[in-house]
Amino acid sequence: MSTDEHTTRFKRAGGSPFRMKVLTSQADLDPKDRISYEMLSWCQEHEGIVVMNSGLILTTDIASRTVQNCKGVMINKGLRPGRVMQVTQELITVVLGNIDQDAFNQQQDGQVAAEIEVSKQQKRLRILIQEAVSAEVSDLHIEVREKMARIRFRKHGELYLHAEWFPKIAREIASVAFNKETDYATSHFNPLVPQNASMPMEIDGQELRLRLASVPAHGGFDVVMRILGATQEQTKVPSLQELGYTDDQVKLITRASKLPHGAILMAGPTGSGKTTTLASCMSMVELDRKVYTIEDPVEKYIENATQIPVNTDKEDRSFASFGRASLRMDPDVIVLGEMRDEDTAAVMVRAAITGHLVYSTIHTNSATNIITRLSDLGISNILLSDGSLLKCLMYQRLIVTLCPQCAVSIKDSAAHAKQLPRWQDFFKDKINNIRVRNEKPCEACRHLGIQGRKVVAEVVWIDDKGREFIQKGDTYNWEKYLKSQGWRDHRDQAIYLVSEGLVDPIDAEKVIGEISNTFSTDTFNYTRFAQGEN
Ligand SMILES: [Zn+2]
Repeated sequence: MSTDEHTTRFKRAGGSPFRMKVLTSQADLDPKDRISYEMLSWCQEHEGIVVMNSGLILTTDIASRTVQNCKGVMINKGLRPGRVMQVTQELITVVLGNIDQDAFNQQQDGQVAAEIEVSKQQKRLRILIQEAVSAEVSDLHIEVREKMARIRFRKHGELYLHAEWFPKIAREIASVAFNKETDYATSHFNPLVPQNASMPMEIDGQELRLRLASVPAHGGFDVVMRILGATQEQTKVPSLQELGYTDDQVKLITRASKLPHGAILMAGPTGSGKTTTLASCMSMVELDRKVYTIEDPVEKYIENATQIPVNTDKEDRSFASFGRASLRMDPDVIVLGEMRDEDTAAVMVRAAITGHLVYSTIHTNSATNIITRLSDLGISNILLSDGSLLKCLMYQRLIVTLCPQCAVSIKDSAAHAKQLPRWQDFFKDKINNIRVRNEKPCEACRHLGIQGRKVVAEVVWIDDKGREFIQKGDTYNWEKYLKSQGWRDHRDQAIYLVSEGLVDPIDAEKVIGEISNTFSTDTFNYTRFAQGEN
């Protein structure tokens, strides 16, 4: 049993007679194991801790945070933390006093070399980001594991392998990114705890910002860098039609944007393009209205708005507190970037019922479910059905569209042959229109087989009938009613895009689930399903 396990048991038992061994003498240590010179200066800066060459950590306080930090620093340096042993301060002093000065000096020279290494890795980091920007990717993933590290890029929502590195280099680059390049480069990068940072960078005369996040992983850690405001695609605000909203949906949203007050709420998972849609909605608001947007972070420049950046770590700079502050600034329109908590939801309600037009986003999996989520956030169904509150509910997802140059007919694709009967049964004659990704994509799409991404959305206009369902909290029957009125959900829209030959059915199913008659009927028949009937 390791000492780590000992301590855990010791703590859980809460003062049980379980005794922990405390080392007091050098005789308790492996005589061949020497102090780690690589960790020496760090240990000298911290009290009561010493690291040995074997990775063994000697400490006077086994439960202290210093031990966790020490492990983080070791991993950063490419060292493997070993066992942790409780020792006396006397033993620490003895071990620290037993330094081979020549070897230590050599190590010091090594540290100078290590600093040169840092600027080399800074350059490497820049080159990597430059590559990501010129490939117009949205996110850069560094996945460090024990034996190798993968660099993956995300473009149009899809991840692809960019390079494989030695883990040591990837570790150094990740720590350089956090320690040297970020806004608050004061804290040490510790791969053992989740960390966030923001990093400004100028690439080819273009200013951009990267949002960094890390989590520990088995055998290493992950760092993800989101590239903000870099490519043309990201800085230019597209119209709702360009995004993929249908003409009818755009008409409803335009009508809502002309209202004097009320709430327009948009749902969708992270990365479903809600921010872009919000920016696009803002460009429809008349210039004589005063607009405040509260965002985390500010991603797109909106010409006629006051954009306030949120800092979620600080209470007084949250969505809710800036929302309340903007209400005192004589606003006409308020955009609350995201409703994550009761506080922000309450601000949304107050702003809407006190005569302002409010836009906000929320995480749910359909437009009507926004109601359910808002009741979770403490807003009563009576208030939700108040005529002055909710005006329009939206939900959107992104779906990848085919490269028009190289897409092929579904009947010519071996990859789709097995599932063809199911789709044939569903799409009937329209199956002949359906196109799919080429197995050998062309130059025009950079061999990805896809052109970009399109929104599939649903927009609900809140009418009297809708308010009845809201008051009862009955979203299930509300959707049925909407469908009877000719309303289309995001699923219908995705299926339409497939039937027009614009989207590969496999890509559509990644977003809306299986497209088949089995799953689209009202009652699921288990017997027929088991018999393999579609
Ligand atoms: Zn192509």
